[in-house]
Amino acid sequence: MDNHTHLPLGEWEIPSADGIKLPLNQQLERAKAAGINRIITVACEINDFTGALKLTEEYNQDDLRIRAALALHPNEAPLHCGYNEPSPDGLIPKIGPQHCPLDEALNYLETQITHPGVVAVGETGLDMYRTARGGLKAQIESFHAHLEIAHRHNLPVQIHDRETHAECVSVLHDAKPSVPIVFHCFSGGTELAAECAKQGWYASFGGPLTYPANQELREAFLALPKELIVVETDAPYLTPVPHRGSPNASYVMAHTVRFIAELWEIDESAAIAQLNRNAQQIYGTW
Ligand SMILES: [Zn+2]
Ligand SMILES: [Zn+2]
Repeated sequence: MDNHTHLPLGEWEIPSADGIKLPLNQQLERAKAAGINRIITVACEINDFTGALKLTEEYNQDDLRIRAALALHPNEAPLHCGYNEPSPDGLIPKIGPQHCPLDEALNYLETQITHPGVVAVGETGLDMYRTARGGLKAQIESFHAHLEIAHRHNLPVQIHDRETHAECVSVLHDAKPSVPIVFHCFSGGTELAAECAKQGWYASFGGPLTYPANQELREAFLALPKELIVVETDAPYLTPVPHRGSPNASYVMAHTVRFIAELWEIDESAAIAQLNRNAQQIYGTW
């Protein structure tokens, strides 16, 4: 199961490599061929909710089932509060017509989350890379609200944590969530890994685990109990080695899974069984 990806909702969202854009149905055929038959697509701005829910209805066969996670991304939350100062990486976030007040957006989210295709709330959390420090207050408010929504609907939460490990842990300690917590695209070190192990929070790993420079990430990975690890692509970005530089998609995840088996020093089939068991603990069987 690719437990966190962003499937393209239209042709314009498909990245092109050497002028070639692989249509969604072909991407999914390849995923099936690579043994990936359960996918959670993440829609984290309100304009994307309907498209993601439609995919859960379109792809609902045993050989390929798509489910959705919905939320307002931590970089969306400040925009819903009218905050768009330039980010540390130099971008000026754009407030659009879809950026209604945060409480309205959260209410809308809660109406959409009852769709039978939804299996998680996400991605929510914090991000101090794409949002300036002044946006943190809105992010924390939104993060708390998402945890409450997840609690009311008994859904696991996928957390986006970018350069905010301590702040994310602090919100979680305040909220004491009763539902499964997944740090998607885990980017912490052994300290965050130890906290996850202690709290029973899951860590989801994608392509960056395979990047040669990310030795600390691999140390954190190995410090986590196998029972708390799941795998994702976060496509279309963060393509695993050996395809780094090309667009990412679920079918490329096989490389990350193989890499995980090697780190665990176990058979690929045993690693797959472990990862599937973990994903089912979080998201149920479907
Ligand atoms: Zn994310
Ligand atoms: Zn994502």
